[in-house]
Amino acid sequence: MKVRFGLQARFLMALTITMGVVFALLALLLQRQSVMQREVDLLGRDAMQTMAADALSRRGEGMVEQLADSLTNPLYFYDLDLIGATVRAATRQPDVAYVLVYDADGNIVHDGTYDIAAYGQAMTDPVAPVVDAPEERVTQWTDTVMDVSQAITIGKERIGGVRVGYSLLDIRASEARAAGNLNSRLVELGRRHMGWFVALLATLALACVAIALYVQRTLVKPIRELADAAEAIGVGNYDAKRLVSDRQDEVGALVRAFGDMNDSIARHDRDVRRMAYTDALTGLTNRLAFRESLDHRLMMLRGSGRQLGLLFADIDDFKRVNDTLGHEAGDEVLLQFANRISGVVGLMGGDEALLARFGGDEFVILIQDGDVRDSATRLAEALVRELGQPLMLEGRQVFLGTSIGITLFPEDAADASALMKNGDIAMYQAKVAGKNCYRYYSRAMDQAVERRVHMEQELRGAWERGELSLVYQPIVRMSDRRVVGAEALLRWQHPEMGTISPAVFIDVAEQSGLIESIGPRVLRAACAAAAQWANAAGSHEPPFVSVNVSPRQLRTGDLPEEVAACLRDTGLPASRLHLELTETAVISDEAHASALLAKLHRTGVKVWLDDFGTGFSGLSHLRRVPVDGVKIDKSFVADMQRDPDDLALTTAIIAMAHSLGITVVAEGVEKEAQYDILRARGCNLAQGYWLGHPMTATEFRHLLI
Ligand code: C2E
Ligand code: MG
Ligand code: MG
Repeated sequence: MKVRFGLQARFLMALTITMGVVFALLALLLQRQSVMQREVDLLGRDAMQTMAADALSRRGEGMVEQLADSLTNPLYFYDLDLIGATVRAATRQPDVAYVLVYDADGNIVHDGTYDIAAYGQAMTDPVAPVVDAPEERVTQWTDTVMDVSQAITIGKERIGGVRVGYSLLDIRASEARAAGNLNSRLVELGRRHMGWFVALLATLALACVAIALYVQRTLVKPIRELADAAEAIGVGNYDAKRLVSDRQDEVGALVRAFGDMNDSIARHDRDVRRMAYTDALTGLTNRLAFRESLDHRLMMLRGSGRQLGLLFADIDDFKRVNDTLGHEAGDEVLLQFANRISGVVGLMGGDEALLARFGGDEFVILIQDGDVRDSATRLAEALVRELGQPLMLEGRQVFLGTSIGITLFPEDAADASALMKNGDIAMYQAKVAGKNCYRYYSRAMDQAVERRVHMEQELRGAWERGELSLVYQPIVRMSDRRVVGAEALLRWQHPEMGTISPAVFIDVAEQSGLIESIGPRVLRAACAAAAQWANAAGSHEPPFVSVNVSPRQLRTGDLPEEVAACLRDTGLPASRLHLELTETAVISDEAHASALLAKLHRTGVKVWLDDFGTGFSGLSHLRRVPVDGVKIDKSFVADMQRDPDDLALTTAIIAMAHSLGITVVAEGVEKEAQYDILRARGCNLAQGYWLGHPMTATEFRHLLI
């Protein structure tokens, strides 16, 4: 956890500052008290000193006055004995240090001693009285002595004086004692105060600590936990310990609300994650999650020498299911496929296999176990086999295959994008190779893709360069084998690539949109050619021309106008133009198609459904879309003799169409036997190599004659 200036720190700081202020105030108080103590001490001493000095000087002055009185006579008569007795008596008084009697000249007369050692000496000490001073009595102080002197007079005449020295030592000592006493009391008082003060401080500190702990426990800790939890949520970690609280206060409510919020966000996150990483329809891993996982695995595998295989499986003709049976059926197919693929992958994919749906009808399988090439081959074979089994859809059997492209890491590519592109290319090649099979990616396939791109470039402007032309394949009436019409089929004569079949380039033209410019030209050319056939037919009914129309041309919407214009311009009667629409194009948007077909009918042309039977549209659709004929796909005709199902279907188509008054054309009749079977079942028209290969317009005219 990172260091921060948090609530607790702030709170502690505020507390510390408060404590500090209180301490400072108390310290100031304490300091004031000790100053006061000192001042009280000084004042006390001072007062005591003045008091003692006052008392002493009063006592001294009284005594000196008394002494002066009692010494007047003895000094006058110079009675040294009496003076000595008086002086000694005075000397015995407490605190008296000396008593000196002096004459008018200031010389000592008596000092109380018996031998009067100082007799006749002049007084020279600093506090010696001035004999001729105007004042009669003088009190003087030194550090050690209070000296009181009094003149002794008779009448106006000063005959001498007396001085008494009081020793200040004792007084000072007792003063000091008293001061000491006072001081010790003050100190004692201070100590008591100090005790209180310390107790107060301790209580205060304890209170602060208690408050801090309380706030920490009840406020800071839960808030910090909440903040940590919120931080965890912020970085997407919802599984951190859940906060609980049974407190009944606001913090408790907050903690509980927070816990609930965490749960709900976590739930939300799980949902979003699941939605973002799984395919909603099949529940499989989706493209996004797969891509992440692939990147991750490639990173782990890099340099390890281990292999990884990707299988791109695409359901063949899935679009037709969607277009003809609706999206619900499409979803059902996807689900059934997903289940089957899961089953196969679970059995043979190994532990590390990963299956994903890439959107649409594309599934991707990642395998990593064992010999990857070997496993991929076996898995692809199993998938092709398993997915080739018929599906039950709305009570009907539907045959769908799967084309699989396989690419290997590190042989084919080293990064995810390139691998996925390779897989796609290989899968596309499996489709080109006839679908319902698998192909390994090879560098040559890149060339195939390039060829396709190249082809698209070449196809652009091919009509203008005269490379595109039409051939006509005769269509005969089965009852009398007469040629009654022809199907116009496009050919591309490329200067380098030679003749290219529309089976190859029509797809390119459709996907690139080029068909939208080629289609109308084909229509115009076919109409123009057919207009010439009336003469060649002689007495017979002139043959019709049947033109293939791409689904894209239907979508652009101006087909009826286009047709009308062609007919008008070429002079071909509308009844002799047939349009071949594919089943899927018509059925994928029934409403639109019905309106379009109605419009086309109004121009007078006939509309046939081409490749009928391959789009699962079923016979029931025929009731709803107003077509004039159906062309049974050549795959049914080819298999009719071998497969009783195909024969049954062909028979049913013919019967059903006839009951609706619709013409039936059989495509791809290559053998007489096929012709016979179809004729026996009442098929109206037939087309096929056995009856005639596609030929140029001129050849066809000759054929008519
Ligand atoms: P389709 O309309 O079903 O045309 C019939 C195809 O079957 C033609 O192939 C024809 O040559 C071929 N065929 C005819 N008799 C037999 C037979 O007895 N056995 C076999 N195996 N095949 C037979 P083609 O000319 O290669 O055309 C392929 C497809 O290209 C056509 O199928 C049609 O869907 C499309 N196509 C051709 N010309 C045009 C065009 O001008 N416009 C559009 N939109 N599509 C065209
Ligand atoms: Mg056709
Ligand atoms: Mg056809």
